[in-house]
Amino acid sequence: MSQIRVLRAQEILDSRGRPTVRCAVRLESGALGQASVPSGASTGRHEAWELRDGDPRRYRGLGCLTAVAHIQGEIQDSLQGLTLGTQRELDDQLVRLDGTGNKSRLGANALLAVSVAFAKAVAAERGMQLFAYFHSLLPSPLARTPALPLPTINLFSGGRHAGGQVAVQDVLIVPLPGGTLPDQLAVMAEIYATAADFVESKYGMRHLTADEGGLAPPFASAQDMLADAMACAEAAGFVAGKDFLIAIDAAASHFHDHGMYRFDDQRLTTTELIAQYARWCDSYPIYSIEDGLAEDDWEGWQALYQRLGGQTIVLGDDLLCTHPERIRQAQEQQAADALLLKVNQIGTLSEAMEALQLARQANWHVVVSARSGETEDSWLADLAVGWHADNIKVGSITQSERLAKYNRLLVLADQGIA
Ligand code: PGA
Ligand code: ZN
Repeated sequence: MSQIRVLRAQEILDSRGRPTVRCAVRLESGALGQASVPSGASTGRHEAWELRDGDPRRYRGLGCLTAVAHIQGEIQDSLQGLTLGTQRELDDQLVRLDGTGNKSRLGANALLAVSVAFAKAVAAERGMQLFAYFHSLLPSPLARTPALPLPTINLFSGGRHAGGQVAVQDVLIVPLPGGTLPDQLAVMAEIYATAADFVESKYGMRHLTADEGGLAPPFASAQDMLADAMACAEAAGFVAGKDFLIAIDAAASHFHDHGMYRFDDQRLTTTELIAQYARWCDSYPIYSIEDGLAEDDWEGWQALYQRLGGQTIVLGDDLLCTHPERIRQAQEQQAADALLLKVNQIGTLSEAMEALQLARQANWHVVVSARSGETEDSWLADLAVGWHADNIKVGSITQSERLAKYNRLLVLADQGIA
């Protein structure tokens, strides 16, 4: 049983220099938990609501002072003195208090900061490591042993995370299962470094990177992104399909326009875009395709899954928004077989766990993901380990807000978690 003594919150800055929310929860036992929350740029329409101040004179309207005030006002008032037996009780209370379907009254950024800070405080109170606390939240049929996820690492970027020079948002590299995390990261870092040199010699520029650290030269096409990824991994001495695989995050909601897909200089129908993905899957070792189609193109997703399910992982980000209802719909319609789990898309840990549970029950693949706007907080690494995610997706092996998560995974690897 834990009792909340006080909540403190601040507006802090994320990796894009935009405001986000940090919260500290002090329990009556004296235990303290502090957490900050991330923020997306290529956000799904069905995500929980990130509350922004909207004052154009301050951070171009993106200030989080209202969310902070909600934490220190109404949320604190409703939680102070409550005896909370479980994370679920805290999260239910937050959801009830907000009272809207999408957390737009108090803000998903405010609610999630409290949810995660409380988790950290309770873990401290119980003398548990955070990953072990996250693991302890799972109902027993879900509770596989904590394990290190396979990293997926941004190599090249376009779309909203770069200058939009090319439609596809990210081309990522994925080590093959087996081997240790330190070894896997060393290989991925070598491929990334070779790619930086490759970009410099081919495009005459080295330091143009996107929000998550992916290299972002002016690719002529998405096809070029893939061909370049293969070329530089092989130049680094690694063999596609043997040492690494390639993953794509198309983020197609963001190039979907009146029923068509603006794909580089073409306008493609859903069927044509699926045919393009099928050609890539035949030519390259494509591990997964994330958001291959737009978030509400349900019929298209069914066709995509029918065509490529089994050959590659069909992963839903904007499609699912970590929302149990949308995951159920995708399962009923056989529209995907993998969940990209972003906790701030839904707004509390317990609801994200519900999403995980649905994915696991259907034998789906689970990828725990950061956002393009991140902070130095590393709780996501503990979440991926405690919830035994198949993959973690936190960006390139650059930038401290990304490295904080990889470094936490390395510490857990050193503690013997495999
Ligand atoms: P976002 O991008 O955090 O900007 O939404 C990440 C992704 O699309 O996976
Ligand atoms: Zn995505």
